[in-house]
Parts: sequence; C-alpha cells; structure tokens
Amino acid sequence: MAAFPEGKSEERKHKNNPNGSGASQGQWGRAWEVDWFSLASVLFLLTFSPLIVYYFIMSCDQYHCSLTDPITDVLMGNSHLSDIWNKTPSLSWKAANIYIFWVTFQVMLYILVPDFCHKFLPGYVGGVQEGALTPAGTVNKYEINGLQAWIITHALWFANAYYFHWFSPTIIFDNWIPLLWCANILGYTASTFAMIKSYFFPSNPNDCKFTGNLFYDYMMGIEFNPRIGKWFDFKLFFNGRPGIVAWTLINLSYAAKQQELYGQVTNSMILVNVLQGIYVLDFFWNEAWYLKTIDICHDHFGWYLGWGDCVWLPYLYTLQGLYLVYHPVQLSTANAVGILLLGLVGYYIFRMTNHQKDLFRRTDGNCKIWGKKPEYIECSYTSVDGTKYYSKLMISGFWGVARHFNYTGDLMGSLAYCLTCGFGHILPYFYIIYMTILLTHRCIRDEHRCSSKYSKDWKRYTTAVPYRLIPGVF
Ligand code: NDP
Repeated sequence: MAAFPEGKSEERKHKNNPNGSGASQGQWGRAWEVDWFSLASVLFLLTFSPLIVYYFIMSCDQYHCSLTDPITDVLMGNSHLSDIWNKTPSLSWKAANIYIFWVTFQVMLYILVPDFCHKFLPGYVGGVQEGALTPAGTVNKYEINGLQAWIITHALWFANAYYFHWFSPTIIFDNWIPLLWCANILGYTASTFAMIKSYFFPSNPNDCKFTGNLFYDYMMGIEFNPRIGKWFDFKLFFNGRPGIVAWTLINLSYAAKQQELYGQVTNSMILVNVLQGIYVLDFFWNEAWYLKTIDICHDHFGWYLGWGDCVWLPYLYTLQGLYLVYHPVQLSTANAVGILLLGLVGYYIFRMTNHQKDLFRRTDGNCKIWGKKPEYIECSYTSVDGTKYYSKLMISGFWGVARHFNYTGDLMGSLAYCLTCGFGHILPYFYIIYMTILLTHRCIRDEHRCSSKYSKDWKRYTTAVPYRLIPGVF
C-alpha cells in the first residue's frame, strides 16, 4: 500500500490550499486566538499529564498496579505522600547514560544512515519523500528510514540478548522509573528548545502561529515543521523515534523480566508483544503515508508532541506489558485465540480502511474496491482566495460501512491488548479508554472540519453513510 508520493491527483486540486480547505483552516492543530476554555484545558494538561504518568508507573512499582490503593493508603493515614515520593527511585547516572546512548543512537540512525530498505523490499516506500504542502506553501522533503532504524535496533537487541550479553534484556524494566525522569528531561528540553527556536531562528517563519499566550503556544507549538539543518525534522523524529522504536523494545524487556522472575513467558505477554509489534511495524512500513495524516499535516510542534512522544507514549502505551510483569496472566487457549482474532481482525479493518481511501484518492476513483468500481459523492469547496476545488468522498468498501471505520479497527486492536491482562485491575484498560476518547474526539474534530469544508456535500455524504464508528450505534 502506502505509495502516497505518486498520489498527487487530489493534491493538485488542493494546490493553493494544501491541508484541506481555506474555509476550514484552523479546525486542526491549533488556533490563532485562545479562548478561556482552551487556556484552562492547556493548563490542566500541562499540570496533570506528568502526574498521571507518574501515578500509573508508581502504582505498579509500589502497589502492584492498583490505582485505588495509593489513594486509600493516603486517605486512611497509612502512608503519606512524602512516603510514596521517598520510595520512588530517583534519577541515576546509569539511567542517564542508557538514555543518552539510546537517543544518540536513534539520532544517528535517523540522520546518518540513508534508507536502503526500499531498494529490496517490494512495495515499501522509503528514502527521500515529499510531505504535504504546508499552509505557507512549502513542501518539505523527508528521509524515510524508520523501518531501517527499527530493524537495526531490534537486530542489535536480539544479538545482545542471545550472543553478546553486553547488558541484560531486562535493562529497561530495571531502570524504568529513573528512565522516566530522563524521558521527561528530553521532552521538556525539546519542547522548550522548539519554542525558543520559533522566536529566534524558525525554519519557516511563514508557517509559525503565535497567539501571544505563552502557555498555549508552548503546549500546542508555534513552528509547523521545526528542523535543524536540512534533514533533522523534529516532528518526524519525535513522532516515530525514539518513542515508537522503543515501544517494542520495552515490551521485549517486560517479557525478559517475566522469564527472569517466573521462569516462563505467559501467552498473554506473547500476545501483547505480537499484536503491538504488528502495529509498530505497520507504522514504520507506512511511514511515508503518515506524512500525509492529520498528525503531520495539521499539528504544530510543541509540548503536546515533544513531551507526548517522549513520555506519554512509551510509558502509557506499554502498560499492558508492565502489568503482566506484576500479574503474569496465563490465558486459556480459547481466550488467547479469541483475543488474537480480535486483534488481527481489528488490525485488518484498520489497515484495509486506510488502504482503500489511499488507493481511491491516489487513482482519483479509478480503482476497484471489493472487486467493483467504487461509488462516491462528488464534492466541491471554496478556498480562502475564492477558488473552487473539487474532491470525492467514497461510499464503497469500509467507507460505506461507517465514516471512520479505520478508527473502529484501531479500537478493536486496542481492546485486544487490554483483554490479554484479564479483569483483575483497571490499569491495563487505560489504553482502550484513552484511545476511545482520543479517536472519538478526533472523529468529531475531523467531521467538523469536513462539514465546514464541504458544506451541503458533506450532508449528502452523511446521509449516504449515517454512522461514524459503529453501524447502527454511533
Ligand atoms: P483519516 O485517515 O480517517 O482521514 C480523514 C480525512 O480523510 C478527512 O479529513 C477527509 O479529508 C478524508 N475523508 C473522509 N472521508 C472520506 C471518504 N469517504 N472518502 C475519501 N476521503 C475521505 O484520519 P487520520 O489521519 O486521523 O487517521 C489515520 C490513521 O491513524 C487512522 O487509522 C487512525 O486510527 C490512526 N491513528 C492512530 C493514533 C494512535 O495514537 N494510535 C492516533 C491518531 C490516528 P479531505 O479533506 O482530504 O477530504
């Protein structure tokens, strides 16, 4: 799939108005002006997100992954906040060295090793690729080599685990909280640096958005595509590496810890490793395609991406594996097969839905979806400069089942990860709760943008495909 690069037909129509429409600019990414609600939300997230991450990880470390025990302990007077804090491992030189090595290694793989995977992997789109046209009219070039970085990193990981024995494969788990402080330092440094950079040496001044509100600008970002030099792109680097390359390594470290503690790796841990591994590999296989998704096309680089990619993602997306170290669940064969099927079907729906839209847009509708020529609704919209453009919304395949069936598939996969952990605690279910909120909110934001972009044509589309995520329900 992938292959957006040759998919220019839709973009030509968007020439003056790359990210969708003039009418709807500003619905994504961040605003030009800050209302009190946005400011309150920003302050809330800036304050509480780091605490939430700490709370989850500390609960596993000190309370066997119970989210309620720390609160009851403190309320009953059995423990003070200072006791919990004093028991929390602090930043160590060992963790700092591991983290510095890790990030430096990923930076080197990103900027020094041009992609060779696209030369021998059929269908894979890597090497130098173009991103979407930015609002100021720039088309950035990217070196797509995430798959290669992932393969090299994991090959070294396995070589170490089975042959060299330079370090223990449990190293990540063993230093998990000290590494949290390192990840925070990098997240805050990257976001603060990006903010200062946008004032003094922005990569593209015309793509900067200032509201004048320091907190909002810090959180949502000012620069659209901050870069150092020609190739070091903050969004691409932080979005994929070090967080997503680390995701599968973190899970492997949890599996190694289970082996060390219990002498075996449970089938639930294997399922988490396999299902999340497929998701991560899919991300890197389609890295060029991700250049055209909402994340890269509409979001500015601020704390939300910088800190989120360094801390939120690696610490909270991997909670199932962490939980299984403390509670090794061995699933019955029927349950394991059921969960595997849910995860695989979810992944299939997620991938095929994205693929169908990609193919449809790339060929301008001249393709086959489920063996037939796709049906679609012809749409038009007008850009800020008054130019009329034409587009198409497909109502065949998965896009005729629901308006965001790709999100539904994503949610099915997310639920499968959580179900591997059984029903002993709520903590591993954080992921499905978070993804449901994230994708429902995203769906509503996207539809708001599309509705103001396509107006009455969007109404025709929603009449033809009445449900967003689950036919007959929502
Ligand atoms: P989509 O890929 O769903 O793209 C939405 C856009 O597609 C719309 O704005 C519209 O753009 C166009 N479109 C909508 N309906 C149709 C149609 N019927 N036919 C043709 N084009 C249509 O959105 P995302 O970029 O949010 O998602 C990409 C993937 O990333 C998803 O599968 C999602 O699940 C995943 N994801 C994962 C996250 C995670 O943390 N794990 C986070 C976010 C996303 P236009 O203006 O061009 O018409």
